[in-house]
Order: sequence, then C-alpha cells, then structure tokens
Amino acid sequence: MIATQRKDLLPEVQAYLSGGPLPGVIGGRRVASARGATFTTRDPGTGETLAEVYAMEAEDVDRAVGAAMEAFTRSGWARLAPSDRGVLLHRLADAVEAHKKILAQIEALDCGKVYGQAEGDVQNFIDTVRYFTDMALHVEPRSALAVARHEAWSVRAPWGACGFIFPWNFPLLLAGWGIAPALAAGNTVVIKPAEDTPLSTIYLGLLAKQVGIPDGVINVVPGLGESAGAALAAHPGLKRMSFTGSPEVGRLVAESCARNLVPVKLELGGKGAAVVFDDVDLPQTVENLARAITFHTGQVCCDATRWLVHRPIYDRFVAAAAERLGKVVVGYQMEPATQMGPVVSDKQRRRVLGYLERGCAEGAEAVLAGGPVEVAGYGGFYVKPALLAGSLDNVAAREEIFGPVAYLTPFADEEEAVRLANQTDYGLANSVWSSDLGRCRRVAESMVAGNSWINAHNLFPHGVPYGGMNKSGVGGGVLSIHTLLDYFRSTSVVRPL
Ligand code: NAD
Repeated sequence: MIATQRKDLLPEVQAYLSGGPLPGVIGGRRVASARGATFTTRDPGTGETLAEVYAMEAEDVDRAVGAAMEAFTRSGWARLAPSDRGVLLHRLADAVEAHKKILAQIEALDCGKVYGQAEGDVQNFIDTVRYFTDMALHVEPRSALAVARHEAWSVRAPWGACGFIFPWNFPLLLAGWGIAPALAAGNTVVIKPAEDTPLSTIYLGLLAKQVGIPDGVINVVPGLGESAGAALAAHPGLKRMSFTGSPEVGRLVAESCARNLVPVKLELGGKGAAVVFDDVDLPQTVENLARAITFHTGQVCCDATRWLVHRPIYDRFVAAAAERLGKVVVGYQMEPATQMGPVVSDKQRRRVLGYLERGCAEGAEAVLAGGPVEVAGYGGFYVKPALLAGSLDNVAAREEIFGPVAYLTPFADEEEAVRLANQTDYGLANSVWSSDLGRCRRVAESMVAGNSWINAHNLFPHGVPYGGMNKSGVGGGVLSIHTLLDYFRSTSVVRPL
C-alpha cells in the first residue's frame, strides 16, 4: 500500500507529503531550487515515492549561507542575552513537542524506522535543544585571566554562519545534536539533510519560522551530496562546519574546509565490538545485543557489529544468538508488531547482501544466513538479521556494513579480548559485558574508541561526550559542554599594569 493512502496517517502528514515539491528554507522563506530541479524521497518500507523535494544546488546554497551570514550580523540573534535566545529555542522545542506525532510519522516513513523508535528520535531532539539552551545560560561571556603585571581577560562570542551535513539514519536526532549547541551559542545554521531522508529537517525549518526564530537563523538546503553537500562544504562564508556520515565523504568535506581554513568536526562510521565474558547472564546479554544489532535495522554508526565472546561460553552464546535473531519480526515500520523495519534503500540492501556474500567467500561461517526477505503486501527493502563467525581478518569484520549483521569471534582471555577489540581502523564505541565490574572498568578503559559502555550498548546521555577517533571522527564529538564551547570564539584582551 502506498504510504500516503494509509488510514493511520495523520491528515497533517498527508497534506505535507502531497503538497507539491517540498521546498528548501532560506531566509525564513520556502524556496524552490533556482533551476527548478527536484529529487524523489521514497518510503523504504514500500519502495514507493513519498514526496518530491526541490534539489538545491550551488547557487541555492550560496543564497542560504548568505541568509545565515545576514541573520548573524543583522537579525540581533547573535547579540541576544542567552536567556532571551533561550525563550525562542524552548519555543522551538515546544513546537516540536506539539508536532511530535506528525514528525514521528514523517521520520518513520522517510527512514523506514520503526514508529516507536522515530518517536524516541523526536523526543531526543526536544531534549537536546532544551539541554544546550539551558547550559548556555551558564557559559561565562567574560573570564578574568590571572597574569603577572597585566590585566587580562577573555571574551566569548558566537562564530557566525555554521554548516551542517547529516546522514540518513537519524535525521532529526542528529540535527539536534549538531545544531542545538550552535544555536544556543548564538550562531546561525545551514543544514544539508541526506537526500534519502530530508523530510523531517524541512519540517523543522518551517516550524522555526512559526515560533519566531528570526529569518535566516535556521536554513535548510535539501539536495544531493555531490551538488548541495559539496557546495556547502566548500563555502567560504562559513565559520565552522560539521559533517556526520561516511569516512569517504568526510575526507572530501575536510579537504574542502581545509582550503577555506574552516574548522571541521567529523562524526564518521564505526565497527564497534561487544566483549562478552563467561560470567554474564547469557540469555539477557544475548537479548540486549540482539536488540542493539536490530535497532534501526543495524544502520547505527556505533553499533556492536563484532561480538567477541569468551571461549568457555562461545558455543552456547552463538546458538542462543542465532535462535533469538532468527525470531526477529521483520515488517513494515508502521505496523505495531514489527520489530525490525527495512533498510533505507535498495542501494543499502545491495550493500548489506554484498558484504554477506564477500564475507562468506573469504571464509566466514554463516551461522544465520540473513539475506533478502519479502514482507507480504509491501515491496520495500527488507533483509533478515545475519550472524557470521570466524577470523576477524575478513572483509565483513573489517568494514562497516550498516545493516543487521554481527560478526562472532571467540577470545581466550582479557588480553586477547582487548587486542581483538582494538583490531580495527575505527574508534567510535565498544561495550564490555561481565558481572566483574573491576574487569569491566579495565577493559572499558583499554579499548581505543571515543566511547566504552559497560553491560549496555548504545547509551547517549546528554552530558557524556559522544564521538569517534581514528577513522570514526575528528573534532571532539557532540553532546557535552565541550560541544557548546566549540561554538564560541574566544578573544583574549590584555593591557600592561
Ligand atoms: P554519506 O557519507 O554517504 O552521506 C552523508 C551526507 O553527506 C549526506 O547528506 C550526503 O548527501 C552528503 N554528501 C555526499 N557526498 C558529498 C560530497 N561530495 N560533499 C559533501 N557532502 C556530501 O553517509 P550516509 O550513507 O548518509 O550515512 C551513513 C554513514 O554515516 C555511516 O558511515 C555511519 O557510520 C555514519 N554515521 C556516523 C554517525 C556518528 O555520529 N559518528 C552518526 C550517524 C551516521
């Protein structure tokens, strides 16, 4: 069934999706692309067209950055007291809250995300905006410096127009993680959402206008990566750039920013490990890891995709994991019984299936074969969960698959577990599972990545820096006080006494 004909769709969502090509948002106005080009965004659960969207190109991006620069210097936004800016940002969070069900349906349809998870993403956006808005009240605009024979101090001020490029897996949630600290500090933003999932970000840009955020403070330029994305990354009017996506594109963005000497924050991919010791509650740990690898159909940068299991429980663990994952209910994302929805596109499905094939060709054992699956009545991009096992010297254990595929390997002792966990080019997030908390702490601190979780996976409390190192990212991550401080420039003032 075509998504827009579903009876359970809110009338506001129907109207939003069927109102002609969706616009960009530049300078507070809904805009078509200068050349009138459009692109299609599809419902991954059916493969059907959800909406046409105007495809912004270099001249549109130039207008958007111009609008953000103008709003920074002329709208008064940057000079508002943090508490006054906070009133407007809390109004934005209130508006998102009031439109939560609408945004959650839009997000679920556009991403193929199970509806309940989409609601969680919208709530996370609200929480992130409120968190950074309130934190900004406590950032000292001026700090005295203790210096011999001089009076010295430093002042903080926002930078100016900041660019953001986001991937397709968590459009609204990641937009919150990115833009909330920038806006709370008084910057203006230009957002390039992913072409597969632009709908919630455009909706957000339109809501910002309604709550009275000055025109040009939040601009949205939907479009293709190689045109809109590349133009934004290369724009000399930006003061800061933030990119979330693949290492390959991250490198291109960093190269463009380097030419303009624009500082860039990169939040990239991952190949996380879950290290499971023999003293765990085995059924519960299997349950938790099964939920993690099927969460948003495994399209999660920090997922546990390498399951390293203590040899004494390895065989039992593998059997229990295969049994549990074999029962996952794959289905349309809006159906209440669905536990795992589709992957985002046919291209992504082919990528996942390709890795399964190449992994097995290189000698991995298919404990659970995975593969494509039909969901009756829906023609979307569905795959089953898969479990591979064998040596980590395998393409499926080395490279990011971005699907519901876990790779199992046994380890003998703590030292080998840490060595295997660190046998990767990535460094985003790992977890360790044991009832011995001393061992958990040792392993958690020895794994080389931005985040280590103990007896849990995928934890993002506001206040804990979240980000990657090595091939997983550069620039200190998101979600903490440091992220907010990054969005202030600092000027030191000194005079001799
Ligand atoms: P991607 O790199 O293909 O695309 C990301 C964004 O970059 C999209 O908006 C795309 O349009 C744009 N883009 C593409 N080519 C561009 C170019 N030449 N110049 C500028 N922009 C361009 O990534 P994806 O497939 O959308 O997302 C999956 C990747 O994102 C995975 O590697 C995943 O691990 C990563 N990711 C990381 C985090 C994190 O927080 N570290 C979070 C989510 C996703």
